[in-house]
Amino acid sequence: MSAPIVRPERTRLEPWVLRRAGARDEAGLRRHQLRALRATVRRAKESSRFYARRLHDVDPDGLADLAGVAGLPFTTADDVRSSGMDMLGVRQGEVERIVTLPTSGTTGDPKRIFFTAADQELTIDFFEHGMSVLVEPGDRVLILLPGERPGSVGDLLRRGLARMQVEGVVHGPVRDVCRTLAALEAGRFDAVVGIPVQVLGLARRSVAEGPAVRLKSVLLSTDHAPRSLVAAIEDAWGCRVFDHYGTTEMGLGGGVECEAHMGYHLREADLLFEVVDIESGAPVPDGHYGEVVFTTLTREAMPLIRYRTGDYSRFVPRPCPCGSWLRVLDTVRTRVAGRVRLKNGEMLDLAAIDEALFALPDVADCHVRLSEDRGTLSVEVLAASFRDRGVAQRDGLDALSRRAVAALEAVPAIGSAVRVGHLDLRATAGTAAWPGSDGTAKRMLKTSEHTEEPG
Ligand SMILES: [Zn+2]
Repeated sequence: MSAPIVRPERTRLEPWVLRRAGARDEAGLRRHQLRALRATVRRAKESSRFYARRLHDVDPDGLADLAGVAGLPFTTADDVRSSGMDMLGVRQGEVERIVTLPTSGTTGDPKRIFFTAADQELTIDFFEHGMSVLVEPGDRVLILLPGERPGSVGDLLRRGLARMQVEGVVHGPVRDVCRTLAALEAGRFDAVVGIPVQVLGLARRSVAEGPAVRLKSVLLSTDHAPRSLVAAIEDAWGCRVFDHYGTTEMGLGGGVECEAHMGYHLREADLLFEVVDIESGAPVPDGHYGEVVFTTLTREAMPLIRYRTGDYSRFVPRPCPCGSWLRVLDTVRTRVAGRVRLKNGEMLDLAAIDEALFALPDVADCHVRLSEDRGTLSVEVLAASFRDRGVAQRDGLDALSRRAVAALEAVPAIGSAVRVGHLDLRATAGTAAWPGSDGTAKRMLKTSEHTEEPG
């Protein structure tokens, strides 16, 4: 583990958020959010066909305070799929970039998210200040995210880093662990930004091959980062690991951890976050879990008002130890749809499975499926370090799959379902990644009813 930080530095996002909001303190930020919320609703009604219909009865000046946001209707992934063009708040010629998110379901159009040049500028600005939490001028960062196209996440990150005199090298997602590891070793990098399971695979391979890599920090992005995975990366590279929360709909960036690692400080000048009850949609008090919902406050091309993210989290109900008054959204570890009830009534989610499996030293990834009748949990684990072929490998893989079963039986919800005969556990271990697993899609606990697209 990296040395514990006795006194976490106050997040550098705070002064940036205040500057972006033209505010001096928290009260000023909240006033900015209310003004920006009213302006967003007004502009959306005036300039977008979708919101003209959806917000027909809403008077933006009737929003007396921020709590009034709860009176506005939600928007959903289905709205974006079916009415994306109608959500446009600018002329098509002003759209600088369109990100198409494929759907893995058999029906439905892909989600298309639109950005103007000004929208992209806000993302670059966030990346610059968000990254200042973990790197310094003069550092070099290896970016393991898609970045070939102008305006892609890796490209915007590289441009944000350049503004703080940090060199970002866009490598792209890990397709070949050995090749990426060689690039990491040769490039004298101080930090890595990548997808959690991909960075774990790199870290575990790098330990197996010898202690060549030492890093200052790692930023995990794009998917949930289990605690056991974070600990394994910290162990392997002697680095600090930070988690970033962001989706394409949020404008690629949403928030980033500070040194206290309690959860994310958020882009509060540009995004208004809520947590709502999954069933009723009503706001829940701080400390209570629910679905994360956000409203864009400064987005031009495609304003999203009360967009339901499908992510499961809560606001941490106490001040951050870093000393900032910025809110803290707890680390997102699972999707709302990724929580399922087993036959014995216990709730199970991917986070619990992840914590158990990624704690096994040889696991680089796992793929989990629950049968439709919820009677069988099938798990494939990808081994990180079996490089020899033949009997030794086969024995090693058999042992690994047995260890995976034992680890899963130690998860309370799974263990109790297995003991009463309500759940069969099947685990296999292999050295080849399964088809379609390149780490760029969000990992899910899949049942046949839940075939959600990557968000
Ligand atoms: Zn903090």
